[in-house]
Amino acid sequence: MKMNNSLLKRIDLINLSNSYASFSSLLMKRYNIIAFLMILVCFTSFTVVNAQTTKPNKKVMELFKEAKQQMGEGNYESANITFRKMLATRSVLPTEMSYYFAQTLFQIGQFRNSQNFLNKYLDLNGKGAEFYNESIALQDKLDRKLNKAFYCSLCDLNGYKITPCETCKMTGKIQKTCPYCRGQSLARCTLCNGKTVTVKKNVFGEFEYRTCQQCKGKGYSTCELCHGTGLLETNCPDCDGKGHQSTNEICTHPNLEEE
Ligand SMILES: [Zn+2]
Ligand SMILES: [Zn+2]
Ligand SMILES: [Zn+2]
Ligand SMILES: [Zn+2]
Repeated sequence: MKMNNSLLKRIDLINLSNSYASFSSLLMKRYNIIAFLMILVCFTSFTVVNAQTTKPNKKVMELFKEAKQQMGEGNYESANITFRKMLATRSVLPTEMSYYFAQTLFQIGQFRNSQNFLNKYLDLNGKGAEFYNESIALQDKLDRKLNKAFYCSLCDLNGYKITPCETCKMTGKIQKTCPYCRGQSLARCTLCNGKTVTVKKNVFGEFEYRTCQQCKGKGYSTCELCHGTGLLETNCPDCDGKGHQSTNEICTHPNLEEE
C-alpha cells in the first residue's frame, strides 16, 4: 500500500498525460499484481526517456559557455578547470561537451584523457555527430601523439616525462639479502633436511640409514635460491623494474622530428 502511494506520487511528478494517469490509477485500484507490474514497467520506461530528454541545467550551460569562450581565447588551462567544474556538478551534461573537452585536453597535452573523451563523444553520437569530421581529425592528431609517446625515449606511454630511478641507478634491479639463507650462502640441505642422513626401508622392511648424497653428510649445502651468493636480484620496487620513474610533466617529444 505504501509502495503504491509513493509510486503514484512519482508518476504525478513526471507529468504523465491525463488519460495515462487515469488509466494507471484505475489499474491501481484493483490491487492486481499484474497491473502493478505493468505500471512498474511503464514507469521504468518513462524514467529512461525522461533522463534522456532532460536538458542540462542553467549552471552547467553557463560553465559550458565559459569553457568554450576560454578555448576561443586559447586559454586551455582555464577551460580545463571549467570543464572539470562541469563534471563535478554530477548533473546532465550536453553531449558536445565531451568533444570540446577532448580538444582542450589535447591542447594541454593530456592525450590519453583526450582519447577517452573523444571515444565517449563518438560512442554517444556515432557518424551523425555534429563534430564528426573534426573528431576524425582530432583522432588523427591523437594517433600521432600517442604513437610518438611510444617511440619517444624521454617519456612514458602516457606522454609524461621520465626521470632516472635513483634507487636502482637505472638498472631496474636491486640486490637484496637472500631470504632463504639470510645471506649466509649455505642453507639446510633440502634432501636430508639437515639431518645428514637419508632413511630408506629395505626389502626386509628394515630402516636403512645412508649418508646424504646431496650434502655429503654435512647437513647443509650451497643455497639453491641464491646459488651461494647470499644475494637475490629483484625488480626495483620504486620503478617496477623499469629503471625510470614518471613525472607530472608532459613531454613534447623534442627528440622526435615533426613530420
Ligand atoms: Zn628503480
Ligand atoms: Zn641464499
Ligand atoms: Zn643432506
Ligand atoms: Zn616524449
